[in-house]
Amino acid sequence: MPYTRRSFLTASAIAAAALCSTRSAAGLLGSAGRPARVTRRAADTYFEWKKVAESCHVASGEGGNTLAVLAGERSLLVDSKNGGFGPVLRREAAALGAPVAMLINTHHHFDHTGGNPAFTGDVEVVAHVNAAARIASGFEMSMGAARRSIQQLRQSGRPGAGRVVADIEEWLRSGPTEKDFHPTRFIPSSGSLSVGSLTIEVHHTGAGHTDNDLIVRLPEHNVVHAGDLLFNACWPYLDPTNSGADTAGWIRACRKIVELCDERTVVIPGHGEVGDVEIAQRQIGLLSRVREEAARAVEKGVARDEFLKTPFPEYEQFGLPTIRPFTLGGAWDEASRDAGK
Ligand SMILES: [Zn+2]
Repeated sequence: MPYTRRSFLTASAIAAAALCSTRSAAGLLGSAGRPARVTRRAADTYFEWKKVAESCHVASGEGGNTLAVLAGERSLLVDSKNGGFGPVLRREAAALGAPVAMLINTHHHFDHTGGNPAFTGDVEVVAHVNAAARIASGFEMSMGAARRSIQQLRQSGRPGAGRVVADIEEWLRSGPTEKDFHPTRFIPSSGSLSVGSLTIEVHHTGAGHTDNDLIVRLPEHNVVHAGDLLFNACWPYLDPTNSGADTAGWIRACRKIVELCDERTVVIPGHGEVGDVEIAQRQIGLLSRVREEAARAVEKGVARDEFLKTPFPEYEQFGLPTIRPFTLGGAWDEASRDAGK
């Protein structure tokens, strides 16, 4: 896919999603709150790894939330953030206790697969079968994100940022290609995986946020990583045209997440704070409401640009206001398509 204005806007919107975690209003988190119990951050470590359950750590920022799970001599990683962040993820996940033996991509978006090249050579990289072509077509967006990150990192002054810049520059000099991002194992539907003695359930319920979403559940830890099926207290990125998104399917996927959880389950959204099952319940509420409003607007002949101005008072405090037009515009596009207009 050429690096068009549309793809730039898409890239900007998705990149903005990384900012959501610090903006979530405390009152919008799950009732359990589930503040991270321990933070692992050495002086030269770039990411803060928050312990969310036994052997489970989450790193936020620079793309979607990444989960690292220790499983004896090996570890599992879920999602690889923006382009160029693979080496630091691999290094820091290993420093938590064991080298990464498997990476799962919850879906194809470049802020969840950009770090894949650091793993695809010698680590099993798992994705839904529909992700293959979409990851390839997102190549330029991943490269663009990597180049933008160099600038941002240089200005950030964050501990460890200098080493991450060196990682990204070295990787860009190596001349990455689409193949470097390509997962090594594809899953056609739901199934079970393992890393050592760790059991990993993956669930695919059809098109939702994309046409290749995987819900990752760790039954022994009572942890669910939902990828971008869940945005906690943020506007959800909706793109029926280029990602195969489907709001009815997305709501079904959220209901599946609810089914997989009890009141103690730690739920990791793609963006926003870690919480509990209430994140999924609130996501169902937002998607249902936007879907109904879009259908009503299309039926009344309200133009797309006008629909973007629709007030949603209950969600105006949400993070990622730059994604709001993608949520509403995507819903209008879908409603128009469903109405045959
Ligand atoms: Zn996404």
